[in-house]
Amino acid sequence: MGPSVAYHLLSQGLCESVALFEQDPVHLHSSTGLSAGGIRHLFSSAVNIALATYSVKFYEGFSEAMATDGDPGPDVAFRRNGYLFLLTPQNAQALLRRADLQEREGVALERLDASALKKRFPELETADLVGGIFGLRDGFLDPYQVMRGFSQKAQELGAQFISERAEAIEVEAGRAVAVRSQGWRVGARLAVVDAAGAWAGEVARMAGVEVPVVPQSRQIYQVVPPSSAFDRYPLTIDPSGFYFRPETGGRMLVGKSFSDDPREFVWDWKRSLFADAIWPDLAARVPVLENARLESGWAGLYEVTPDDNAIIGPHPDLQQFYVIAGFSGHGMMQGPAAGLALAERIALGSYRTIDASGLELRRFAEGRESREDAVV
Ligand SMILES: Cc1cc2nc3c(=O)[nH]c(=O)nc-3n(C[C@H](O)[C@H](O)[C@H](O)COP(=O)(O)OP(=O)(O)OC[C@H]3O[C@@H](n4cnc5c(N)ncnc54)[C@H](O)[C@@H]3O)c2cc1C
Repeated sequence: MGPSVAYHLLSQGLCESVALFEQDPVHLHSSTGLSAGGIRHLFSSAVNIALATYSVKFYEGFSEAMATDGDPGPDVAFRRNGYLFLLTPQNAQALLRRADLQEREGVALERLDASALKKRFPELETADLVGGIFGLRDGFLDPYQVMRGFSQKAQELGAQFISERAEAIEVEAGRAVAVRSQGWRVGARLAVVDAAGAWAGEVARMAGVEVPVVPQSRQIYQVVPPSSAFDRYPLTIDPSGFYFRPETGGRMLVGKSFSDDPREFVWDWKRSLFADAIWPDLAARVPVLENARLESGWAGLYEVTPDDNAIIGPHPDLQQFYVIAGFSGHGMMQGPAAGLALAERIALGSYRTIDASGLELRRFAEGRESREDAVV
């Protein structure tokens, strides 16, 4: 989010100079590099669909937009395999209602009945399913390359990257005016932006205000399937909660969010959780994956808000302090649009391209929060 905001501020001529602090310049723990890279339009609110719609278009031209002097932009390997929510008699009504909204908002999707589903994806066990919602313009990409592209381009446009932890935010007369690290003090004439992902609450407290974002550790598993049939598969969401998608080198990524995943800054990969709590459901849905081989995996942090929606915009209790954080597991597919929206809000005082006002932090105090239902 930080490099996206910097890129949009500078490329649109909205601001003359930007400095970014990064405590972890190799991005060992940043959520972006640890993400599954799933991209979908299939959300339950108009604002999230709008953020995804802009971002997907942006990702289509990402490499060209991020080209730097003499160098082509990174290839984000955007694979348009689609995104598939499977429907049971229990969840179908809610997901079909969501599909109505998505279609009204211009999302290209297909409603598959059980036989169409089986025909298209014969490896799936469909006896308990009534169909699927298939996002036609969706897929997945390489999140690390997205971060690299935004960072390189922002740097070329003049952004200064400081590889240090921001440790203090100076406040004068109710206004955030500077950020300090061990070796630096950067004064802010226009804005101090909290783009600290799972650490956003901690960074806000440096300025003496609250931002309700907490970390939650999530697991990803890389498996080798016994056949190449899955290369063409969409990112598929099972009603039991697990997801899978093809990965390069004939592998697959599999993950699942559990409500008791630790809400802490921990990155321990739990190998045994796969066999205990995911594999049985996975093999029931895709019987041939009974013979998959678990190869490796990792853990990363979701950055969770009380309503599973991002926080974008000014902080109501501190002037010149802005937040872009708390994407609750769907930041990759919103990053370009969210960065643009915040850049406009900072520099122009209002949202011009996408109205993200419903995602401002004040929604919580004003009782206007509404839960995003399509959270994976
Ligand atoms: C396992 C997993 C799977 C996911 N799958 C998907 C998916 O399929 N699709 C999708 O859209 N999203 C997915 N996400 C979510 C997505 O990765 C995040 O929403 C997104 O990357 C958040 O970006 P960010 O810039 O806010 O956070 P980050 O990438 O974490 O960046 C925040 C940065 O702030 C830095 N920072 C924090 N505090 C300080 C400080 N005091 N000083 C200096 N620097 C600081 C951190 O080091 C970090 O680099 C997934 C996440 C995980 C963990």
